[in-house]
Amino acid sequence: MRVLVLSDIHGNLQALEAVLASAGAVDFLWNLGDVVGYGANPNEVVNLMRALAQVNVRGNHDRVCCGLTTSQGFNPVAAQAAAWTQRALTGENLQWLRDMPQGPVIGDARAMCAHGSPLHEDTYIVTMRDAWTPLQQMESEVTFFGHTHVQGGFSQRDHEWHENRPHYATTDQAEMRVFDVPAGTRHLINPGSVGQPRDRDWRAAYAIYDTEGAKVEFHRVPYDVRAAQAAIRAAGLPDRLAARLADGR
Ligand code: ZN
Repeated sequence: MRVLVLSDIHGNLQALEAVLASAGAVDFLWNLGDVVGYGANPNEVVNLMRALAQVNVRGNHDRVCCGLTTSQGFNPVAAQAAAWTQRALTGENLQWLRDMPQGPVIGDARAMCAHGSPLHEDTYIVTMRDAWTPLQQMESEVTFFGHTHVQGGFSQRDHEWHENRPHYATTDQAEMRVFDVPAGTRHLINPGSVGQPRDRDWRAAYAIYDTEGAKVEFHRVPYDVRAAQAAIRAAGLPDRLAARLADGR
């Protein structure tokens, strides 16, 4: 079974379309949240997830953009984008966002899906120190998570632990790196952000979970970043949200 795992699409339709084309035929799609917020095409992105995803987990931006919680705690740019997104979304899509479950949610027999930490949806897992407690306490052997917009992961077996960061050869072509996800080891895996990468690589990030092979493919794919930027500017969203896409940060 090949599972396409996506996180932090953030209303970036151009990036999402490039990812779907690059991934090709898959058996399932798991969406780890922050479908909207920042980008200029929230309805188009929500419509695609409604049609394609079998598993959905809400993110903090989804929650704020559909009015479940306020934007208190967001920086001014994020708050402005959330208010714009809430106005732009159709009633049906607002309701779909309100109904998204809080993680962790079951993916398959071995893996769960979360937005932030499997222990709390809003907690960032950036370092091995952040990963340590969730690796011990999570209820599944594998948890896919997002929220940090940084592709990679953490594994732990007894006293051995590793941080797994894919290293790529280029900055402008589609690339893939494969990591083993062996049984008997606990794994936290972040597919990276589709729509607003922050690991200094502007290419859209995603992962494919190969359940039979016990492997994860990390992918990066170029997309029409200029079109995504033009859409953000045309929508009257803050210019910073357009500028940062080209830098991947
Ligand atoms: Zn996000």
